[in-house]
Amino acid sequence: MRAVVFESPGKLAVQNVDDPTPGPTDVIVEVAGVGICGTDVHVFDGDYAGSQYPLIPGHEVSGTVVAVGTAVGAIATGDRVVVDPTLACGQCERCVNGAYNVCANWNCLGVARTDGASAQYLRAPAPNAYLLPDDVDIYQATVIEPLACAIRAYDALPRRLGEHYLIYGAGTMGLLLAQLAPRAGAASVSIVDPNAGRRALATEVGIEKVVASADQLDRPNWDVVIDATGVIAAIEDGLPRVKAGGTFQQFGVAPVDATARYLPISIVRDEISMVGSAASRYTFSRAVEMFAAGAIRSEPMFSHSFTLDDYGLAMDMFRRGEGRKLQIRPQATLSGEM
Ligand SMILES: [Zn+2]
Ligand SMILES: [Zn+2]
Repeated sequence: MRAVVFESPGKLAVQNVDDPTPGPTDVIVEVAGVGICGTDVHVFDGDYAGSQYPLIPGHEVSGTVVAVGTAVGAIATGDRVVVDPTLACGQCERCVNGAYNVCANWNCLGVARTDGASAQYLRAPAPNAYLLPDDVDIYQATVIEPLACAIRAYDALPRRLGEHYLIYGAGTMGLLLAQLAPRAGAASVSIVDPNAGRRALATEVGIEKVVASADQLDRPNWDVVIDATGVIAAIEDGLPRVKAGGTFQQFGVAPVDATARYLPISIVRDEISMVGSAASRYTFSRAVEMFAAGAIRSEPMFSHSFTLDDYGLAMDMFRRGEGRKLQIRPQATLSGEM
């Protein structure tokens, strides 16, 4: 099959590699779409801890099952699926206590030590494959992986009905988090992004209050402030805006050695909670349900699709910050606007 291979950090090639064959509990998926996200760029650059090369990238995937292992019962050839890329060991102290998303031996298709979906076919454990309802668009469905991560963020929050949410960053994750807020019981949701193009997209997907700076908003503080940027300036701007008794959530991924400043006395005096959220945990099937229920306006979030051969062009475009969500379509022969 044809596959994009990260041969070593900074070096990619489109190669012919052996077709994957299923182990007893595996499925083989003919890949329809695979989203490109910031994680792929980190893996390509060699600054994502745990990546081993050569590696086929790609972890936001949808497709059709074309082969199943001898012991697979719940999934059959012809099923349309999305794939949870997380591969946890199931044996470490964290896994056995249910926190498999922070597994001590964490692995992830296309990110860490196992090949991903930027290829014609993907091998995955059958329990990681989730059936798509018939009326769901298979290309739009690649957004279910990041949506599962956004739902994990809400699971990690101490939520109550009628709270006011402030979200930093109108990239894919910020937009998914903001679109879920009304479903999670928010009284209002505001989103901050200095980039005018991303603000326009936030308005397009239906976010009510979209601003370049939180100073432009009509509230002094919010019950829940979520950073979906990983940018230190945004984190330092957002934390002091949490209402007494409220919660700050760190969702955005900051550089490994970055530090942020905050006033410890304010955490004590105002009883502020700080919570993290990593990848997804028991949220994939709910992400499928929410997507099928129309909770997310995903169409405006995508802009371009690329063939496998144009993977490098897609990555360059992503780095330049052009377009919206970019997608690889391994079975396609033409790249273009979606
Ligand atoms: Zn991703
Ligand atoms: Zn584990």
